[in-house]
Amino acid sequence: MKIHWIAILVCFFLLNCAKYNSNMSIVSPKEKYGIVIHGGAGNFKEKSLDKEERKAQEAALNSALIAAYAILEKGGSATDAVETAVMILEDSPHFNAGKGSVYNAKGQVEMDASIMDGKSRKAGGIAGVTLVRNPITLARAVMEKSDYVLLMGEGALEFAKEHNIQTEDEAYFQTEKSQKKLDKAKKTKKTSLDHDDKHGTVGAVALDKYGNLAAATSTGGLNNKRYGRIGDSSIAGSGTYADNSSCAISCTGIGEYFILTQAAISVSKNMLLQKNTLDKAMKDVLFNQIEKIGGRGGMIGIDKNGNISAQKTTTGMYRGWMTSTLDKKVLIFDEQ
Ligand code: ASP
Repeated sequence: MKIHWIAILVCFFLLNCAKYNSNMSIVSPKEKYGIVIHGGAGNFKEKSLDKEERKAQEAALNSALIAAYAILEKGGSATDAVETAVMILEDSPHFNAGKGSVYNAKGQVEMDASIMDGKSRKAGGIAGVTLVRNPITLARAVMEKSDYVLLMGEGALEFAKEHNIQTEDEAYFQTEKSQKKLDKAKKTKKTSLDHDDKHGTVGAVALDKYGNLAAATSTGGLNNKRYGRIGDSSIAGSGTYADNSSCAISCTGIGEYFILTQAAISVSKNMLLQKNTLDKAMKDVLFNQIEKIGGRGGMIGIDKNGNISAQKTTTGMYRGWMTSTLDKKVLIFDEQ
């Protein structure tokens, strides 16, 4: 009888030890998590915005925040959250990504996108892609289902078809707005920079409950751009970057400057090497590197502790956030 009780006590003790040990290896959810999104930056004035279009843009940004935050709240991954937010904005005709992509000089849509997972430090990008409904989903497939980091054009489309990624016919991407923008740019004989119109590139950054960061960016690029031009939004390190030891960043602006300064990874390096805060690091890159060589635009970021920032060197930037400590907010101009 005595031995029986001792055996029960020993078992109880061992079971508790096992529980304790396994708990040690389980990463407990953190209180801080959240999503930050953008819908492009540009030098435009409040009075130049069409009221109806502004409403539709703000509604899409709000939907993207709500959907992405719900994923994070349920314990979903930062990668799922940023992909979902960007997909919602790609499906809206009111941003320069997916359906609303602007045209190149030949009147075609050529889309760029990239995504990065801060835990694995894996990234996927696609450049100059046509017909793919959600370029960010294709970028994620490149990250997760290929040995590559960047695929372009026809090869990327072939990869999309092999992985059953949804495509649309050309008519889906033909919008009156993109045609008008191209006609205007051709008349003035210049490559109008779409982000100076009010209809921009989209991006998202997130921190999940398990301390994992992710970033995603998607765009139709520059209005009236040369056929074959590739921008920063397809390149991990330039337009998109995530590293669990520092931050997740998504950029918008004239891509050439963001490639030349390796803008997104520069923010992370600035934080890690110079021990700057996210906010300070983003300002440093935007004002001291990009602006110094003639570039402008904006970026959003979230760091490993859940601090967020949205910075711009333009008058406007569509942006929004929703975190476990900050209520949902959508903004275009400076906060009043
Ligand atoms: N960065 C994008 C590009 O250069 C454009 C934008 O963000 O508006 O393709």
